[in-house]
Amino acid sequence: MRVFKFGGASVKDADGIKNVYDVLQKVGYEDVILVVSAMGKTTNALEVVIKNYFEKSTELNSSVQEIKKYHNQILLDLFEEEKHEVFAAVNAQFAELEYFLAHNKSPNYNFVYDQVVSFGELISTNILSHFMNFMGIQTSWLDVRNFIKTNANYRDAEVDWETTQQLISKNVPRKQLNITQGFLGADENNFTTTLGREGSDYTAGIFAYCLNAESVTIWKDVPGVMNADPRYFENASLLNQISYREAIELAFYGATVIHPKTLQPLQKKEIPLYVKSFVNPLLKGTCVSKGVDLEPQYPCFIVKREQLLISLSSIDFSFIMEENISEIFGLFHEFKIKVNLIQNSAISFSVCVEDKFGNFPELNAILSKKFKVEYSENVTLYTIRHFTEEAAHTVEANKEVLLKQVSRETMQIVTKELS
Ligand code: ADP
Ligand code: ASP
Ligand code: MG
Repeated sequence: MRVFKFGGASVKDADGIKNVYDVLQKVGYEDVILVVSAMGKTTNALEVVIKNYFEKSTELNSSVQEIKKYHNQILLDLFEEEKHEVFAAVNAQFAELEYFLAHNKSPNYNFVYDQVVSFGELISTNILSHFMNFMGIQTSWLDVRNFIKTNANYRDAEVDWETTQQLISKNVPRKQLNITQGFLGADENNFTTTLGREGSDYTAGIFAYCLNAESVTIWKDVPGVMNADPRYFENASLLNQISYREAIELAFYGATVIHPKTLQPLQKKEIPLYVKSFVNPLLKGTCVSKGVDLEPQYPCFIVKREQLLISLSSIDFSFIMEENISEIFGLFHEFKIKVNLIQNSAISFSVCVEDKFGNFPELNAILSKKFKVEYSENVTLYTIRHFTEEAAHTVEANKEVLLKQVSRETMQIVTKELS
């Protein structure tokens, strides 16, 4: 069996969905499972709905209507006639979402988040499945919540591998085209859970692992994995082959093209992962598999913007030792601040962090009681795997370098734009 993952960008409008059909025609669809994300930026739009819900905003209804309108336009472009049963089916899904928002009693933000955002994937797969049938490809729509079982850690649920393995290997139909949702799972009580933002790649990895699949293909708006994000680097070039280890490193440092959790299950069973262009599906793209680390051997650039560089030193001339460091890390964890780089010296301890939830001011108040805290906001963290002097020079040009760390294969540079 082959596992294909189509992300939000590939199904963002009617042309995108028609293109999925074209891709399947070109590469075949027998014995395939499609893992599909929410359409375009629907997950972000549903996050706005959740925010409006908790803030009891008057915009709640209009934020739902906007998502409905967006999907309805796609339906009109795909199916011409409003008589098609898909209109009623998608309407029923929106009615279910509205019912949930009107009747939910749980004050648990993360629980509500998962029950609401999941509609993005449930609706996109419903539309895609109807469209494939409409075009003459028979499909089975699978509710992923009957297959991927997780704990109840809403928004970042952990997979129960044993149960999931059993359900998938027993119940996924073979020799046909199956369509299911990325990103979602279900807990013991059958409440919907999610695997973390951008988690659809991981879903593809889970299915591939449990099915002993032949391969996974992630279809993208880029030709494959490149040595830098082509949005920011003009000269980004395609990588033909990457080892699992190298791909895990790239994803870990923040190359957003593959979700970091995806690779380890695949590596365990040596299932190859292809990253290919949904525009040119017959091109080779990138293959992540056992074999050479990187071909061609280009330096790889990863950029993380809007970082915070924090430097802590002691108030009383003492050193920052294990005891302080473990306390500091405990606090970062508690405030959901992600540490991307660490450097310490005799008298100071520096970290480059990402404060996704805006918790730093609160944390700073606590840290400042014990340490002298200095920080620079809005800095950029560059990671260069397989760096060369020239590569470092490209990054450093016209910027102020605040911190630099070098290991055998990796160079990390924290910079501030010169204003
Ligand atoms: P999906 O629709 O599957 O979620 P994403 O938008 O998350 O797709 O990922 C595709 C984007 O990832 C590309 O448009 C590209 O800008 C970005 N990207 C970041 N790093 C890389 C890289 N090293 N190689 C290719 N694309 C990259
Ligand atoms: N729709 C989810 C998100 O946008 C999952 C995914 O696309 O991978 O985060
Ligand atoms: Mg994505």
